[in-house]
Amino acid sequence: MTADNIRKRGYITYEELKARGLLPPEERMLKGPVAIAECPEEIPCDVCVVTCPSRAISKKVIYELPRIDWNKCTGCGICVGACPGLAMFVIDMSKGDRAYITLPHEFLPVPREGDEVILLDRKGDRVGRGRVVRVFTYRRTYVVTVEVPRDLAMEVRAIWVEK
Ligand code: SF4
Ligand code: SF4
Repeated sequence: MTADNIRKRGYITYEELKARGLLPPEERMLKGPVAIAECPEEIPCDVCVVTCPSRAISKKVIYELPRIDWNKCTGCGICVGACPGLAMFVIDMSKGDRAYITLPHEFLPVPREGDEVILLDRKGDRVGRGRVVRVFTYRRTYVVTVEVPRDLAMEVRAIWVEK
């Protein structure tokens, strides 16, 4: 399976993630926050592997796709800030009709807890509005958790802050 279509398009789709086995099983998604590596390129990078405090991410050789042991992942979000490709996300679908997406953010202005923000999908299109519930920094990247309608959990991958 090549990444040519993804390169030409500039973003990966939900179906492509699923086909590559990069999504956690549904029962794990329902248990609590869990990381997803939206990283379809075989590149020599292991930042997520060496950064994860739970040793939940592995690669047998440095250029293969990262594999996450979703049972070891605590959903801490460290890998979200560490990934130089902005390809790591944490999804929490354990809380009823709302979902919580933890995503990297490298734009200004900096979002603050309580802010209402515009939700963007992988393509960069606006798909709704959400609320920021947590912000921390890791290696100068803002790691932002945003509350979104549950049906957008697998769509929202960026935010836009209006100020
Ligand atoms: S969210 Fe935390 S525990 Fe899970 S893979 Fe990322 S760094 Fe590891
Ligand atoms: S750190 Fe990011 S870009 Fe590097 S292998 Fe991990 S997910 Fe891919």
